[in-house]
Amino acid sequence: AKTRQRSGHCYFSRNMGVDIRGRVRMMHALRTAFEQRKLTLVYQPQINLSTRKVVGAEALLRWCGDDGQFIRPDVFIPIAENSGLIIELGAWVLRTACEQLVELRARGFVDFMMSVNVSQVQFRHPQFLTMLRLALEQTGAPAEFVELEITESVAMDDPALLITTLDQIKLIGMSIAIDDFGTGFSSLSYLQQLKVDRLKIDRAFVNEITDAKRGSSIAEMIIQLGHNLDLTVIAEGVEDERQADILTRLGCPLAQGYLFARPMAPELLPGWLQQHDRN
Ligand code: C2E
Ligand code: CA
Ligand code: CA
Ligand code: CA
Repeated sequence: AKTRQRSGHCYFSRNMGVDIRGRVRMMHALRTAFEQRKLTLVYQPQINLSTRKVVGAEALLRWCGDDGQFIRPDVFIPIAENSGLIIELGAWVLRTACEQLVELRARGFVDFMMSVNVSQVQFRHPQFLTMLRLALEQTGAPAEFVELEITESVAMDDPALLITTLDQIKLIGMSIAIDDFGTGFSSLSYLQQLKVDRLKIDRAFVNEITDAKRGSSIAEMIIQLGHNLDLTVIAEGVEDERQADILTRLGCPLAQGYLFARPMAPELLPGWLQQHDRN
């Protein structure tokens, strides 16, 4: 009863996990928001650390609540996964990001990679590969400029499924990034077998790099691993020049973070890219 009282009318509270009524309410609210097109995508540029040129962007989901406040995806993605809505929502995300990619290409941004997050629930769905092909077909997006970000947790329980699915994605022609790499060591043992293109260093590891720690940071180990296995590495959550500087010296090729740009609405992206190109 206490929990219920504490969460009160705010069904987006941290206590939601134990408040079933709150979760059900939020599930309905999420579905309604999706149907009413209140879920949108924003795009965060990814840049080459040595040239500072843009190489692409990551598509990130936003839910604009009725009070005009944004509800964070960390909060509603688990709800979408539990309710199964993630299948429909995930397909919409990929299609929308592909449409955006096609539009950017039409405006002349042809060397631009679009990264899209994929939930493990989507990844395991029997129609996953069909969904990927359909998104390309419906939008005309070139597969080689679409990258799927998959978290390490996907790798945990079913390595065989992981390996075959990644093989199929490569046949379709899309790239694969392991998101939040290093937060679980599950895939490390068979990383060489996986058809992965990029490793994404989690923000937590970028946060803790300092010059003093050189030689021992997890970020540095991931960058080394990338060099050894011939994988591209991208650091996420880069917030200041000091971090960018250390990452550059460590040989990290790509980065993303508030230092370069915050995630932005699609209508702002072309202008930002043009401005950035000129500098
Ligand atoms: P993620 O994929 O690890 O995304 C990175 C998060 O870090 C994003 O939060 C981004 O806005 C934030 N970020 C970027 N640069 C900085 C920085 O310099 N400093 C700080 N403090 N934060 C930064 P966001 O957009 O709230 O997304 C949270 C998570 O939600 C994502 O983590 C991803 O796991 C999930 N997510 C977002 N969009 C989608 C989607 O379309 N599908 C799925 N399945 N998951 C999504
Ligand atoms: Ca991501
Ligand atoms: Ca990440
Ligand atoms: Ca993360």
